[in-house]
Amino acid sequence: MADLILKPGKERSLLRRHPWIFAGSVARTEGRLRPGDTVTVLDRDHRPLARAAWSPHSQIRARVWSFDPAAPVDHAFFKRAIAAAVRRRAGHPWLSGQQGMRLVHGESDGLPGVIIDRYGDVVVVQLTSAGADKWRDAIVDAVIQATGCANVYERSDSDLRALEGLQAMSGMLAGSLPQDLSIEEYGVRMAVDVVQGHKTGFYLDQRENRALARTLAAGRRVLNCFCYTGGFSLQALAGGASEVLSIDSSAPALETARRNLALNPALDATRAEWRNDDVFQAMRGLRADGRRFDMIILDPPKFAPSAAHAERAARAYKDINLQAFRLLEPGGVLMTYSCSGGIGIELFQKIVAGAAIDVGADARILHRLAAAPDHPVGLAVPEGEYLKGLVCQQA
Ligand code: SAH
Repeated sequence: MADLILKPGKERSLLRRHPWIFAGSVARTEGRLRPGDTVTVLDRDHRPLARAAWSPHSQIRARVWSFDPAAPVDHAFFKRAIAAAVRRRAGHPWLSGQQGMRLVHGESDGLPGVIIDRYGDVVVVQLTSAGADKWRDAIVDAVIQATGCANVYERSDSDLRALEGLQAMSGMLAGSLPQDLSIEEYGVRMAVDVVQGHKTGFYLDQRENRALARTLAAGRRVLNCFCYTGGFSLQALAGGASEVLSIDSSAPALETARRNLALNPALDATRAEWRNDDVFQAMRGLRADGRRFDMIILDPPKFAPSAAHAERAARAYKDINLQAFRLLEPGGVLMTYSCSGGIGIELFQKIVAGAAIDVGADARILHRLAAAPDHPVGLAVPEGEYLKGLVCQQA
């Protein structure tokens, strides 16, 4: 059994149930330790505080599995934790019955470094910390037991693994993949490519925001920027949009988007236009062509992975929002998002406000949006809050 002894005062964040122990907080360790091993965390007076996973290569040197310092971290621990996360979601009226759902959302479900998404009969596991990596077998057994789903695919190819000294790992862990995997999301069928798709295959975090887009789209000319496989586009069509122009720089994503439209014969495909282009360029082109829209969706990739990138990212966010206000008709609606952890909601609102002011747009916020409830934010872990959105209406 190994111990991690904290420097004086460094127990404070743990007492507030924050699960990360940074390198600078560690006085020393005692006992033999390999990456991912469980340590008992002690304060300077050797009072036990928690049990954590040791990550020698990461700036986050240990991540707490349990704030009970006597808790065994074993197969039964993962069974309980994963079953509890699945149960919490089953009890939420927006989530129960969803075919695509995040079952475990890392720190916010008490399982640092563990992401588990379900798409119909397939579960995708992403392990991003040394501790999570060590318990792969226990995690897979637990999720099979909690869901009854026998097909488990691993997509541990996140950049975060390099920070932990871990290699990328992808492949089948149990069962097999069906030929054409798809999910139904509020009546719209969407293909999910768990092998090649972004993240674990799909942007589940935007599910409720896509549903909101659907309710706002009736009769509107919609521009969907950064459309990926067309999630917002198809919901807008389902909501009665008069036309939907969707733009993405990824040709494979657009190919899937077209296929998704074909999977939904009830939608009027003649109203959809797909463009493989860079959004920054394309928006300027649309303005030059005199195109106008009644609803614009901006869901760009993470421009600022951390606060260090915030300034450059802020300029990029401002640019696309500014272009959007220019393309909006009076009364038009802008749905604008940032999934950058390095940009907080207050800064994001300032950026959008700055964009409106620069182009003389008179706009107001109708909705403040976040990730769907299967991506909860632990109250003790505000860092988990990454996705924010604003729905603004032009005068
Ligand atoms: N709204 C989507 C998810 C968007 S993810 C959904 O609900 O599923 C961000 C997308 O932006 C990716 O598909 C990526 O290919 C695309 N992208 C990144 N940079 C881009 C750029 N400069 N121009 C156009 N698309 C870009």
